[in-house]
Amino acid sequence: MRFAPSPTGSLHIGNARTALFNWLFARRHDGRFILRIEDTDRERSRPEFEAAILEDLRWLGLRWDEGPDAGGEVGPYRQSERLPDYRAAVDRLLQEDRAYHCFCTPEALEAQRRDRIGRGLPPRYDGRCRPLPVEEVSRRRRAGEAGAVRFVMPPDRIQIHDLVKGDVQFLGSDLDDFVILRADGTPSYNFAAAVDDCRMGVTLVIRGDDHLANTPRQMALARALGWEPPRFAHVPLIHGADGAPLSKRHGVVTIAEHRAAGILPEGLVNYLALLGWSPPPGTDEVMDLEALSRHFDLDRVSRSPAKFDADRLAWFNRQHLRRAPVERLVEELGVRATPLARRAVEVLRRDASGMAAIRESLSALMEEPASSVGGSDRAVLVAARRALAGEPATEAEAGSLLDDLGRQLALPKRAIMHTLRAALTGREHGLPVASILYVLGGEETRRRLERAIGALPVARGAS
Ligand code: GLU
Repeated sequence: MRFAPSPTGSLHIGNARTALFNWLFARRHDGRFILRIEDTDRERSRPEFEAAILEDLRWLGLRWDEGPDAGGEVGPYRQSERLPDYRAAVDRLLQEDRAYHCFCTPEALEAQRRDRIGRGLPPRYDGRCRPLPVEEVSRRRRAGEAGAVRFVMPPDRIQIHDLVKGDVQFLGSDLDDFVILRADGTPSYNFAAAVDDCRMGVTLVIRGDDHLANTPRQMALARALGWEPPRFAHVPLIHGADGAPLSKRHGVVTIAEHRAAGILPEGLVNYLALLGWSPPPGTDEVMDLEALSRHFDLDRVSRSPAKFDADRLAWFNRQHLRRAPVERLVEELGVRATPLARRAVEVLRRDASGMAAIRESLSALMEEPASSVGGSDRAVLVAARRALAGEPATEAEAGSLLDDLGRQLALPKRAIMHTLRAALTGREHGLPVASILYVLGGEETRRRLERAIGALPVARGAS
């Protein structure tokens, strides 16, 4: 199995799902998962996009067995480093008259296209350079004329036994002699992908069905080179709520944006796995990667497009938020793993909508409260300093300390809670006070109470 992103932008939902399906399939069937960087588009490929894609995949938990950083037996894993392989394959095709040089300029191709449309013909290359005599080709090449190399597309029927779509047929005669090597010496996508899939021993390609039309070309290329093409599984694309394929205009579509919005990788991969695939009946839908890989198979991948639903993603995220080990969440938040942070996450995750909400409440709890308690609260604070001296091991224990305090003070509970919340957090609303006491712990509670008392207007005779 392989995932073959082009480093021309950020990893988005659709590509991440493709990576995930390949990864799950490889896991399920003890296969290898290869990461191949398709960076032959020199203009648009950038090393920083490659680095970001690798980081996003790692964050999602999709480790690759072989790839540009990991190495492996069938490398290199960047297409820009595999040019000799493509060159050798092109030479073979040229020698066997399965490819030819084409000297048409972009302007000539455009004129040809317009002319064909005008005559009601499909706008494709008409093969005019194919009959050029060998001597003429050599002469023009020696003279330094730039040219591309095109593949002679065999006219035969090409049958794809697609593992999701079923049987799909194409006629080679409907396809043109496409470019395999551009004038600048770089391979085209179809050529590089076909060569690499065969040379890297890829046996199954799972990808979006926007690539279905490329498949007969890639299969014909593989066969012309004497190789067995891989099998294919084309998965219907993900659509937005309006029924159009998911794109930037649908809002948050990259993995990095979801991460920044506080989605957990566990929640995201769980949701993505179920976007177009359904687990066997009776299986709990909330699954981690390990459980997903035990159940995943192509026979339960849907043949129609899946709709992206942010509410459902948020639901999966909450399920994982409640199940994840506290330590894991603290790490994901990127805060120091102090006892206070751990207790805060333990309490906050119960009702939080996502990591962003936890992060916000946590930083509010960690902030030094700006004192906002009035002078009349002195009695409450002083009594609290004494009554809350212990270290509550649970929120329930903190609750009993508060009950004791209430009995001592003979004041309405609401007034006491209001004063304490303000003194401890500087806020009017938030967590129940018992939870605040538990999260802060005895020492921090006393420190904040002292501060609040110190900030009170001096009252004669009191301490
Ligand atoms: N680089 C291609 C893309 O990102 C890969 C397509 C394929 O899987 O063959 O769309």
